[in-house]
Amino acid sequence: MLDYKNEVKPVWCVGCGHFGVLNAVYQSLAMLQLPPEDVALISGIGCSSRLPGYVSTYGFNSIHGRALPIAIGAKIARPETTVLVITGDGDALSIGMGHFPHAARRNVDMTMIMMDNGIYGLTKGQVSPTLEEGAITKTTIYGNIDPPIDAVQLALGCDASFIARSTSLDPKHMAEMIVLGIRHKGFSLVHVLSPCVTFRGRDQYTWIRESTEPLPADYDPKDLRSALEAAYRKDKLCTGLIYQKERPDYGTLVKMLNEKAKAKGSPTLEEVAHQFSI
Ligand code: SF4
Ligand code: MG
Repeated sequence: MLDYKNEVKPVWCVGCGHFGVLNAVYQSLAMLQLPPEDVALISGIGCSSRLPGYVSTYGFNSIHGRALPIAIGAKIARPETTVLVITGDGDALSIGMGHFPHAARRNVDMTMIMMDNGIYGLTKGQVSPTLEEGAITKTTIYGNIDPPIDAVQLALGCDASFIARSTSLDPKHMAEMIVLGIRHKGFSLVHVLSPCVTFRGRDQYTWIRESTEPLPADYDPKDLRSALEAAYRKDKLCTGLIYQKERPDYGTLVKMLNEKAKAKGSPTLEEVAHQFSI
């Protein structure tokens, strides 16, 4: 059995939900027995983005909000690599928001694990775009007045071909969702509710337990109407595989484009790019 732990000790606060995500990443890679040299974990900046440093695969703790374009570049350069994008709510849905819709609609074959705690933990507790209305943080001392962005609803609106939700309370379930996401040929989002105990409090675990509900056993993730109903439920946040659709991934479409160019006697995309290489 391959082991994906390295010798670096996580610096997260005691009780941070991200330990559960790290555990799930180890489990999912072990379930798939992927050789570490065939996996790349690309992150931005934030407490969540530290995760690649604790895994014995390739990893890049890059720049704020830019995990997706770097990951897309890695996937295009090495299509055989399993690419995981490791990000948080602020990194993905504020600083990096411009990249998310395009990675999803282009269906780039990679798995994005978004650890959502509604706050900027690394910079010590500012409001993030997923924080619920009325919540108190250091920058919303009279209560948050902005409606939150729901990552699952957003992904559905961007035609993401795989959308799942899990929580740090259940790393085994999360690992199963990550495995399904990696096996899916196209862009997959695993949205994870992962508490920041330091700046949102330990009662976040209770809040997650009480506000989530697994999808029913007879739920059909291929049915868009069911997915929309699940994503827009007012009373509970659904966990499990919410939506999955088969459609060609970006790499396949680029190959088809190159074949068309060749048939017309035109250069392929690689040949055009090569003209600009040093
Ligand atoms: Fe986790 Fe919050 Fe501590 Fe960051 S500040 S390590 S998110 S508990
Ligand atoms: Mg956050």
